[in-house]
Amino acid sequence: MTQLISAKQIDACAPGAHAKPKIQPRYFTGFFRRLRMAGGAVLFALYFGVAWLNWGGRQAVLWDLSGKEFHIFAATFWPEDLILLSAILLICAFGLFFITVLAGRVWCGYTCPQSVWTWLFLWAERVTEGDRSKRIKLDNAPLSFHKFGRRTAKHGLWLLISLLTAVTFVGYFTPIRDLVVDIALLEASGWAAFWVFFFTAATYLNAGWLREKVCFHMCPYGRFQSSMVDADSLVITYDAERGDPRGSRRKDQKPSATGLGDCIDCQLCVQVCPTGIDIRDGLQMECIGCAACIDACDSIMDKMGYDRGLIRYASERELDGGESRILRPRLIGYFLLLILMIGLFSWGVASRPLITLDVERDRGMYRFTSSGQIENSYLIKVRNKSSSARHLVIDVAGPGRSTIQGPDGVVLAAGEKAEVPMSVAYDPETLSGNRADIRVQIRSLDGAGETVAEKTTFVGPASGPAR
Ligand code: SF4
Ligand code: SF4
Repeated sequence: MTQLISAKQIDACAPGAHAKPKIQPRYFTGFFRRLRMAGGAVLFALYFGVAWLNWGGRQAVLWDLSGKEFHIFAATFWPEDLILLSAILLICAFGLFFITVLAGRVWCGYTCPQSVWTWLFLWAERVTEGDRSKRIKLDNAPLSFHKFGRRTAKHGLWLLISLLTAVTFVGYFTPIRDLVVDIALLEASGWAAFWVFFFTAATYLNAGWLREKVCFHMCPYGRFQSSMVDADSLVITYDAERGDPRGSRRKDQKPSATGLGDCIDCQLCVQVCPTGIDIRDGLQMECIGCAACIDACDSIMDKMGYDRGLIRYASERELDGGESRILRPRLIGYFLLLILMIGLFSWGVASRPLITLDVERDRGMYRFTSSGQIENSYLIKVRNKSSSARHLVIDVAGPGRSTIQGPDGVVLAAGEKAEVPMSVAYDPETLSGNRADIRVQIRSLDGAGETVAEKTTFVGPASGPAR
């Protein structure tokens, strides 16, 4: 039997019919946009500026992968400091938890690089293609010289921003001054070229094409943040009690005269939203907390002569008629944990040994020297972690009289590492048994006279020393 379907149903089955329309946020300014711009400007200044700062004759912030060193201004971290670097990440995570409990997703809306770069790309879109209505018109227009020119300008600007972002990012891993010169002369190494290309493409795709989809589908924070906010957290909310029922009206009409709430249903809050949602439907996972809808709605309230704040930062408790509590156990808990971690991290950095020592015994067995002593070989790995040169002397202490063959000292520049081969020889009569614990000690003749020591083993003949 043939089944009849309507034209509407055919349309609904057409390819792309279920695709969400492209979000074309409308440009709008106001207090929160200015705040976002200020936050973004600080972030850009830090991101693009810090890479060019120098400190003590080297790049101030540099993750030198080949040298296995991570410099942050005066501090240098090595692979053995991994726990301290992990602590930085933990502190950032707890800082984020703290901020989320306090004020919802302010991180997402104001400082998350995904949002900030998306705002920058939206700006590029606006200067090349115009504001929302012009962009929608351009999208629907057939290809023409005008459309091609606008599109080329937009993508060119996006690619330029992406390239600058990528070069700066790679410049935190390889000295940026050399990198820029190498790229300009087309002499960059294969790896550097690959990563610049990779991060250019990643920035272009994330901020230009994927935008809110990254927040919806790729960012884990958006998913678990709802479990962190509580009834007292400040989130961006529509005051339904005040706004509903919604409806248009003349400008001079007071809501009381129309039987309507304060919302004039102008849709401006939806048009400015970068994630294309309607905040009036309640708190949604897709809301990145950018406050663009607050600016938009406040301007409408001003025009209508109503009080601002129909959409505002408010807690669930406040909307239910209660009073928000700022100090609450969860917030205090995160704050104390944050302070504890910052304290532990600072203590860990301040109490890091400035000289590190690692002693490796040669895997080979003992041997007899021409003078009849028993000799073992070692490799002394020593690093000067201080910020100035150190003259270091090497000593060995053991159960009896020992002789050191090899340099008895080494001079290391700040951050320098050295491997010193050394052998220790014992007179057989001073060694009881076939093995003894010995202690290799490094003492600095400069600075605070730091001393480090490590225990190792001295091995003799299995039957005991020959007599
Ligand atoms: S609902 Fe408002 S705060 Fe949330 S993303 Fe949209 S414009 Fe930003
Ligand atoms: S901007 Fe304000 S008045 Fe306009 S639809 Fe949104 S909530 Fe209603």
